[in-house]
Amino acid sequence: MIKKESYEGINYCLRCGEKLLLSYDREDKLRPQCQRCGWVFYKNPIPAVACVVVNEENQLLLVKRRFDPQSGFWALPSGYMEIWQTPEQAAFDELQEETGLFGEIDFFIGYYSGFSPIYERVLSLGFKMKNIKGKLQAGDDAEDARYFDIDNLPEIAFWSHQDFLKKLNILK
Ligand SMILES: [Zn+2]
Repeated sequence: MIKKESYEGINYCLRCGEKLLLSYDREDKLRPQCQRCGWVFYKNPIPAVACVVVNEENQLLLVKRRFDPQSGFWALPSGYMEIWQTPEQAAFDELQEETGLFGEIDFFIGYYSGFSPIYERVLSLGFKMKNIKGKLQAGDDAEDARYFDIDNLPEIAFWSHQDFLKKLNILK
């Protein structure tokens, strides 16, 4: 069930600026609705993607996060999906933006529905990438990007990323 607290700070219509009124819709779900133009605020999980890249030496590609959440921690190349992207396109773009590398989708690893301190819930999609090309270089929102031996990995920032690595038997 959607709780009232989920809409804390959601007060005004994004379309017309009128104050939103919290009310029950036809399906009996609580949603902020605009009394002037009818716009409804739907709170949904935010889709994100993460990329698993393993090189020929059996090392895993990780990026050191420059920004929160989890700044300073190592994580998979990852990011939120933009409205114009397919999940596959988002994975391709995030890998390129954060590491300078180009890759192809090898296969879809699976999804992880996790808690987010900012968005309440994030739906993460994991992709195994292959045919990696380009020069490894940390992008704007990464402090560092490098390969780690799989038997000597640092702490991985997100449960979703840990889950994808467990599904591939990279993490135990
Ligand atoms: Zn409105």
